[in-house]
Amino acid sequence: MTPFTFTSRPARIVFGAGSLERLGEELDELGIRRALVLSTPEQRFLADRVRKLAGGRCVDVFDGAIMHVPVEVAQSGLDAARAIEADGLIAAGGGSTLGLAKAIALETSLPVVAIPTTYAGSEVTPIYGMTSGNEKKTGKSYRVLPRTVIYDASLTLTLPVGLSATSGLNAIAHAAEGLYAQDANPVMSLFAEEGIRSLAFALPSVCARPDDVAARETAQYGAWLCATVLGNVGMALHHKLCHTLGGTFNLPHAETHAVVLPYAMAFNLPAATEAAERLRRALDVPDPAAALYDLGRRLGAPSALRALGLAESDLDHAAEVAMRSPYFNPRPLSYGAIRRLLQMAFDGTAPNLHSFDGI
Ligand code: NAD
Repeated sequence: MTPFTFTSRPARIVFGAGSLERLGEELDELGIRRALVLSTPEQRFLADRVRKLAGGRCVDVFDGAIMHVPVEVAQSGLDAARAIEADGLIAAGGGSTLGLAKAIALETSLPVVAIPTTYAGSEVTPIYGMTSGNEKKTGKSYRVLPRTVIYDASLTLTLPVGLSATSGLNAIAHAAEGLYAQDANPVMSLFAEEGIRSLAFALPSVCARPDDVAARETAQYGAWLCATVLGNVGMALHHKLCHTLGGTFNLPHAETHAVVLPYAMAFNLPAATEAAERLRRALDVPDPAAALYDLGRRLGAPSALRALGLAESDLDHAAEVAMRSPYFNPRPLSYGAIRRLLQMAFDGTAPNLHSFDGI
């Protein structure tokens, strides 16, 4: 067996439809008596419900969270927390709301209780990000890792089908790359395999019947497992390509992951035998790259970078940026290979495990 290091982080997971009702006791467990609830303006109704459920343990609501945590928003949230002498933060929403909670926790070390409503998974990673102008700065600190996560699938019933599909595929991407990470370990590989299996099984039902609580629960369970992998091991080519396309060409986050994933798998899995075997088992198919492409089509997710607004003339530059600053990848990288991968993803050509033979 390959030697490994695994550090178990003390996050408490409270899982199950209806579990939001347990909020009061969870706040008591952490000794929180003066919480600030955070949300986006669109999810203010949820923040108000959370405040009510928290009873006297919650003092105020700040509903100014927006995508990518602009530093000005982080500052306003911090001011709101200081104004009420908050002793804890409750983040009710998706990655944007979690991001705001993390930005405040980074400055204050306040404990965060997360109530996620998407499959993005930020609630179980120590990764934070903030934007200033057009520049996004990310970092890693265990100070921002939520102490308790309440997964109540009934809060995900309103998540639009399109976002459910792309953020679910985004979650699968974290786990798939975690399987061949440089610092992979058998515990995270178990999480990854079960997370991918759960999401791939549940997402078609979620998209066909968005109010199916059982399917939503299975998808949320998978999202938790997959995000835990992201929080524990390093990522490789797939994430580098998505960060390049998002950062340099402003392509949308989850949709870009959904498009690129089958191509990254087609390229990397021939060089990552154990990861390929685990993915075959999780998806119950002989060719995981082809199967992930088919899953995306079945869910109605975008299938080509051209559909996300990228210009074909950008592909050379994208390949150059993706080659910059060397990073771990299970298969050696070359400009030609990345350029070809990007062309296939741009066109939406169906990939398989032989797409990059001999390259
Ligand atoms: P989001 O939080 O931006 O939410 C998108 C919109 O959907 C918002 O208006 C939100 O209020 C609404 N929404 C969320 N849940 C809903 C629900 N159940 N019903 C109806 N509306 C709902 O979207 P996201 O994809 O969760 O988060 C994306 C952000 O998270 C990005 O900035 C990304 O970089 C970040 N992220 C960070 C990490 C990390 O580890 N730090 C991990 C994944 C994503």
